Amino acid sequence: MKEKKRIEALRRQLPEEDEIQCPNCFQFFYDQYNLLCFASLGYCLLCANKKVKIGTIKDKYHVSN
Ligand SMILES: [Zn+2]
Repeated sequence: MKEKKRIEALRRQLPEEDEIQCPNCFQFFYDQYNLLCFASLGYCLLCANKKVKIGTIKDKYHVSN
C-alpha cells in the first residue's frame, strides 16, 4: 500500500479548490489535463471522450477543420 500512501501525501499538498468532481463518473480530479478539460467541457477527459460530441470539442477548442 506504499503507492496509496504516496498519493495521499501528494493530495494533501494540493489546495482543495483545485480538486474537481466529474458530474458523470463522480471521481475527483486534480491534474492539469483533466482541469483543462473540465474548464472547457465540464467533464473529465474520459467522460468527455464518451459524452461530448466531437463537433462540440472542436468548437470549444477552436479547431478549424
Ligand atoms: Zn468523468
